Amino acid sequence: KANSVGFIGLGQMGFKMAQNLYNKADSSLIIYDINKSATQDFISMNKTSATDATLKSIDIAESPVDIVRRASVVITMLPSSAHVEEVYLGKDGLVHGADKESLLIDSSTIHQSVSKEVAHKLTGKGATMVDAPVSGGTVGAEAATLTFMVGASSESDFHRAKPILSHMGKNIVHCGTVGTGQIAKMCNNMLLAISMIGVSEAMNLGIQLGMDPKLLASILNTSSGRCWSSDTYNPCPGVMPNVPSSRDYEGGFGNTLMAKDLRLAVSAASDARVTILLGAVAQQLYNQLANTAEYAKKDFSSIYKWLIKSGGK
Ligand code: NAD
Repeated sequence: KANSVGFIGLGQMGFKMAQNLYNKADSSLIIYDINKSATQDFISMNKTSATDATLKSIDIAESPVDIVRRASVVITMLPSSAHVEEVYLGKDGLVHGADKESLLIDSSTIHQSVSKEVAHKLTGKGATMVDAPVSGGTVGAEAATLTFMVGASSESDFHRAKPILSHMGKNIVHCGTVGTGQIAKMCNNMLLAISMIGVSEAMNLGIQLGMDPKLLASILNTSSGRCWSSDTYNPCPGVMPNVPSSRDYEGGFGNTLMAKDLRLAVSAASDARVTILLGAVAQQLYNQLANTAEYAKKDFSSIYKWLIKSGGK
């Protein structure tokens, strides 16, 4: 058990994170996903590339509780609060097998109150839980350069999680007690949505007025409008290779997930009576994309395509 790590949720992010964990950690991996083709693909991919003679293995678990009984560390990377509640507290949830040896790390972006509730239930079993949402996108997940924002109730909990997270990320930051990782992540994603809309508007306006897209992007990227949405993840097709905009917005960070993160921000701001004008507008825009079949599963930079369709020459 001590030499196994569990990973639940092998989606856009989790698949790549689990791959780095498997490649870099001296541990066997036990994986689980309700989508059976995700775990099968992971196994097949590693069978074809396995050239080493280490004793590491990969197993598919039957349920979350099966994983926690076999691995002392379990990482979860799930879409939203409801999925985390199901995997941790549901019928076959992690809580039913966790004990004082268990360290549970949830890297999903969810409501901070759910992180706290789940951690509270696990602490009752003697287990340790931290929230560790990430930033860096699928590119960062693949390159193991993610930023982990960790909410841990003590320094020692943080230092227990840090070496495992270091296999998948570059910056591992202790934000405060359980739930604070989610606060940092929510603020980051609200800003990201606003900057993505801003870059999309600027690129679209410049191009409609006659600028060359690559030239305009290169000027923005050496000027005061530069930001991650312009220089690392440009939403205009053809400006950058290997980003979702260059493959019709496939893969990456879905509009449904961005809409979810903005709902978290708007709800937290409303509870705290904090004004977030642009965050609220961004939420309305991403709700529209998430509710439109053509856009729901596309990357959040497809706001650029939506803007073009909504007006221009
Ligand atoms: P995804 O939808 O691609 O992957 C989620 C995976 O969880 C899927 O494989 C799904 O089958 C699995 N799953 C769902 N319910 C399950 C259950 N009950 N038991 C087991 N597995 C279950 O999502 P993603 O893009 O990988 O994002 C995961 C989390 O990371 C989200 O909270 C998201 O907001 C956050 N995030 C995503 C990105 C990104 O660029 N995609 C970046 C930073 C953070």
